[in-house]
Amino acid sequence: MTNVAYAEPAEEVVAIVRLRRGVVGERRRVCHLVPIPGSGPVPHELLALCGEPIAPGDAEVMNRICGMPCEACLARSSRGRYRSFW
Ligand SMILES: [Zn+2]
Repeated sequence: MTNVAYAEPAEEVVAIVRLRRGVVGERRRVCHLVPIPGSGPVPHELLALCGEPIAPGDAEVMNRICGMPCEACLARSSRGRYRSFW
């Protein structure tokens, strides 16, 4: 018997980002969900839930999903506990 208490895992903050025009073709300009580190510096490259690498300068942060959402990101977000960034 122990006195260890288990807390629920913290929610992770995610941002909705879309790669800028010219960085990728129009077909790949979908809205990805990108987990944002809760503390420490923002890394040089973030990773969307679907695995797409996102360089901060190559993407725009959206205040909502507009246009086509990334289906892989949406599918993976339904399995996690996320809090929106905005
Ligand atoms: Zn994605």
